[in-house]
Amino acid sequence: MTGWLAVAGLGPGDERLVTEEVRATLAEATDVVGYIPYVARVASREGLRLHPSDNRVEIDRARHALDMAAEGRRVVVVSSGDPGVFAMAAAVFEALERRPDPGSFDIRVLPGITAMLAAAARLGAPLGHDFCAINLSDNLKPWELVERRLRLAAQAGFAMAFYNPRSRTRPHQFARALDILREECGPDRLISFARAVTTPEEALATVTLAEATPEMADMRTVVILGNADTRRVGHFVYTPRSAG
Ligand code: SAH
Repeated sequence: MTGWLAVAGLGPGDERLVTEEVRATLAEATDVVGYIPYVARVASREGLRLHPSDNRVEIDRARHALDMAAEGRRVVVVSSGDPGVFAMAAAVFEALERRPDPGSFDIRVLPGITAMLAAAARLGAPLGHDFCAINLSDNLKPWELVERRLRLAAQAGFAMAFYNPRSRTRPHQFARALDILREECGPDRLISFARAVTTPEEALATVTLAEATPEMADMRTVVILGNADTRRVGHFVYTPRSAG
């Protein structure tokens, strides 16, 4: 087989945060596959076919990408941020697992800067001690599991980054998540809302859990909850590296 498949992260938005490795790989590609707004970030050129698709069909997209690689094409599947964080890399391996010949594919995963790290850098250092990342969408898991993880992570003292906090199709769950966090962490815990980080629409806000409202988040926001020691210094938010 001469074709290959790369699963590439485009970073949080700013073109300067696309890695050299991803740029070089896109320059060699014959086909780019991905969710419409991410494919739109790839410049078209002669000999490059763009395959934008809707977000809800990740497995179909992965299967299509593998089919094209098997035909000898040089395929890049693009994600925003990092492709391994709530994105296409796992979908590609899920599709690969269903093939009779998984070992015959030339596949590479190219890392990118994930939203929570870009947001944390803007805010200061809220993830300076132990933390976890939770996808608040219940598209691929039951909501009860999200609630259980929120409680256990809070009890374990983790700072937390929340992806997919809120969407039009599930407007009430983030309110419920905030209630659980207030119950577990108290009203004074710091929570930061980082929207469209590194793009012209970037907006940052840090408030206490008592002040937080569901409307502060949307699908372009990553939310970072501090741990019990997280505090402000000047305009920044940071979490000390030692446990208190
Ligand atoms: N693979 C991506 C995450 C995909 S899930 C990554 O590593 O960043 C989509 C979620 O990521 C969004 O709902 C939002 O919570 C977050 N996100 C992606 N880009 C963002 C950005 N520029 N600013 C803030 N949050 C972002």
